Amino acid sequence: MPDTAVPSACPAPRPIEKSLPEAPLRDVMAGASRWTIPIHEHGFIALVDAMPRLVPEGQTADSAIVQSARVSYGQGTKMVSEDRGLVRYLMRHRHSTPFEMVEFKFHIAMPIFIARQWIRHRTANVNEYSARYSIMPDRFYRPDIENVRKQSKTNRQGGEGPIDAGTADEFLKLLESAEANYQKYLDLTERGVARELARAVLPVSVYTEWYWKCDLHNIFHFLSLRMDPHAQIEIQEYARAMYELIKPIVPVASEAFEDYRLNAMHLTGLEIDAIRTGKPLATENKRETAEWEAKKARLGLA
Ligand SMILES: Cc1cc2nc3c(=O)[nH]c(=O)nc-3n(C[C@H](O)[C@H](O)[C@H](O)COP(=O)(O)OP(=O)(O)OC[C@H]3O[C@@H](n4cnc5c(N)ncnc54)[C@H](O)[C@@H]3O)c2cc1C
Repeated sequence: MPDTAVPSACPAPRPIEKSLPEAPLRDVMAGASRWTIPIHEHGFIALVDAMPRLVPEGQTADSAIVQSARVSYGQGTKMVSEDRGLVRYLMRHRHSTPFEMVEFKFHIAMPIFIARQWIRHRTANVNEYSARYSIMPDRFYRPDIENVRKQSKTNRQGGEGPIDAGTADEFLKLLESAEANYQKYLDLTERGVARELARAVLPVSVYTEWYWKCDLHNIFHFLSLRMDPHAQIEIQEYARAMYELIKPIVPVASEAFEDYRLNAMHLTGLEIDAIRTGKPLATENKRETAEWEAKKARLGLA
């Protein structure tokens, strides 16, 4: 030790005690390096890692939810047969932190206009391909002609149903001409224009990639918003694929998510009053009334 070192009053950590698992462990991804679902011509979502990755034989990653929940609930529900009930209780009562003990890491390739929507989910950890550092790949999203939607008349944010073939064809030709900027982009970067500026000529249909890591509580939040029919179809396709990737790893939590979140319905105070009294919804608001009519239809009350 050099003479100048100040002796620390803090004792050195004691040796690490390494415990062997109580039961043999299995890999929740069955030894695979990634599980990939291709999306459209150039996109994909790949699950590249999970936490917990290893779980006791015969269990799923749901066990990490139960394990952490028992810290707060003590040993009262120790039976494995009660695990499902506990996970479902936690989901119903929005006791969310145990679900944060499970994490998933994805590698995703998607058009930039989808990435713009995705990045709004702030609770994930993201690392994206740098178009300042690297040349953008020559990959663009182009819908099939039958998937060129027309603007919805009822939902100002959405499209619905195919537009006539002539207009769809015109739109696809315009997309193609925007893609043709790619060659000019390459030429300009080769002539020395900085990549960070040259990329400005590319349309938002160009593909980007990122690694995206998020915990299960926030993934369920993402999925409940982006699997919803109000979300843009292209991001719905990614969200549905993401759900397919995680469902076999957390089947119990996924079942609870479907029962208590995805397929559930929120009733407002006004709506509860309307059911109780049998009177119309006490509002003049047209959109709120329409939403109530849709809920009544789902409840079989219409
Ligand atoms: C159908 C649809 C249409 C949309 N349209 C638009 C639009 O027109 N314009 C637009 O700008 N956005 C739009 N969005 C994006 C939307 O407003 C949200 O930004 C997005 O859905 C992310 O939701 P979030 O903030 O709940 O999620 P996350 O960022 O994942 O956050 C999860 C939760 O963590 C909490 N949280 C996270 N960060 C903070 C923080 N900094 N402060 C406080 N609480 C925090 C909140 O409780 C939040 O609900 C739309 C989203 C959908 C699904």
